[in-house]
Amino acid sequence: MFTPRGSGNPPPVRRDQVEPDQRRSGRVEPAGRGASKPVLFDAVLLDRDGTLIEDVPYNGDPDKVRPVPGAREALDRLRAAGLRLGVVTNQSGLARGLFTAGQMRAVHARVEELLGPFDTWQVCPHDERAGCDCRKPAPGMVRAAARALGTSPQRCVMVGDIGADMTAAGAAGAAGILVPTATTRPAEVAAAPAVVADLPAAVTAILARAALVTGPAPGPRRGTVLVARSDSAGDVLVTGPAVRAVAAGAERVVLLCGPRGRDAAALLPGVDELIEWPLPWIDGDPAPVDPDDVHALTARLAAVGADEAVVFTSFHQSPLPLALLLRMAGVPRISAISDDYPGSLLDVRHRAPAGVPEPERALSLAAAAGFALAPGDQPTLRVRTAGLPAPPSRLGRPGYVVVHPGSAVPTRACPPELAARIVRVLAAAGHRVVVTGGPDETTLTAQVAGDAGLDLGGRTGLAELAAVLAGAGALVVGNTGPAHLAAALGVPVVSLFAPTVPYGQWGPYRVPAVRLGDAAAPCRDTRATRCPVPGHPCLAAVEPGRVLDAVRLLGVPADAPATTAGPTGAVTSVPGPGAPAVVTGGGSSR
Ligand SMILES: [Zn+2]
Repeated sequence: MFTPRGSGNPPPVRRDQVEPDQRRSGRVEPAGRGASKPVLFDAVLLDRDGTLIEDVPYNGDPDKVRPVPGAREALDRLRAAGLRLGVVTNQSGLARGLFTAGQMRAVHARVEELLGPFDTWQVCPHDERAGCDCRKPAPGMVRAAARALGTSPQRCVMVGDIGADMTAAGAAGAAGILVPTATTRPAEVAAAPAVVADLPAAVTAILARAALVTGPAPGPRRGTVLVARSDSAGDVLVTGPAVRAVAAGAERVVLLCGPRGRDAAALLPGVDELIEWPLPWIDGDPAPVDPDDVHALTARLAAVGADEAVVFTSFHQSPLPLALLLRMAGVPRISAISDDYPGSLLDVRHRAPAGVPEPERALSLAAAAGFALAPGDQPTLRVRTAGLPAPPSRLGRPGYVVVHPGSAVPTRACPPELAARIVRVLAAAGHRVVVTGGPDETTLTAQVAGDAGLDLGGRTGLAELAAVLAGAGALVVGNTGPAHLAAALGVPVVSLFAPTVPYGQWGPYRVPAVRLGDAAAPCRDTRATRCPVPGHPCLAAVEPGRVLDAVRLLGVPADAPATTAGPTGAVTSVPGPGAPAVVTGGGSSR
């Protein structure tokens, strides 16, 4: 399944490495005869200096190549698991003339001699002044490596020792694992989606994540399965892949959700019927328990006639009260993640380690219950796009940048003054900017849009928001439901992420994304819903120019003239390149 070149053959590294040669498609053979496609990853991409081998600055001498401890054995474990390996490395020493391409080839031949073959080598020969799109933190080499391996960045995980490795991975849509060294800056460690001690630990983490979502081979198709996911739209959306896995093995799927998640649940593929019911042990602002209501819910659950149930929760929620009602409703088989002792409430009591991305945590429960994604279905978030309402015509053609300043959870919202400055900076750089928000956020969106953005505040329920996002080049948003909606639509995200919960767990999943904000702020991991720190410093200090940089890193072109300040009122049609910036005036911007 591999095409090892043999350690004697020098890897094909040249100065023009990032040129068309990389675009040649080396299709990936199936991972072994009879083996099914791995669920999560096809390939592991590795930084070279400081990750695979000790960092010897601008080294052109093969004799100075020293692998990090345990590297060969760790890489062989990945090879044995059917994963392909790529190296993704900045080598600006070439541009600076500090070593020759021939010397670098010799170094890479020595690396393969010591560590075994790699399936692709991606080298950026430029220095930072070149402004190329390959030098990390730009995502070009991650994309090129995926292409060379016949897969997509979403099916790759990047291991590296600095923030630029993580940014490049994220901006391409790949997963990232940081293996810090003594020179890795604390801010880079804080911002990384995942951090482990060293390369062998990264390999262990990758294989553990893959194993977690791979259950036993699914049995015969089940009849009616009741799945439950209460809480907000974002919670429902990140459970989507697991719901699709259940749907792939069931005749009928009934989803129990809460009022705040209903609109998202209605967009999930694989759901045949919805039951909306607030659960007082889940809601953040719960009503008192009403025995009549609990009896009514139990009767409603019994009426489903489910053959089994899968109860999805966040780690801080208990599935057991609902499991008890499901038992009383006569459901014969119930699966859930529970740290608390479940007695006879659960048939499948699953455990999942802390810190894995929420979609994978949910998929792991589905797998434990005996459900797997249909062949060819990727574990990405998805929503139904057929039947979405038409977006407002004054949006113009696709490619605008959406700024969504609000959030149901105050700590996770972008400060309004900052959001307004972001809109102005993006518009001044030639982006058409659209500001979205719910019916109770019209004052906010008017303030944020000013006269530089198109204010759609109050006009975008979740389905309408999906229709607007579907045409966006990128979304600028905090850690809130619309970030997951964008991910489900494949729209890149600039994530203004308050670190109250872990980014690796709740960040935009399997979609190109750039994280901004102070990941080491005092609110880190507090789960606070109101900012405990005056001034909301984790987000307030973000420079709007960083958002513009992030939009550029995500490859979204500015397609309006930078001069702007067009007429007030709606932009009804866009005549083509060089169209006016989308601006609003008068009523819609108050
Ligand atoms: Zn480059």
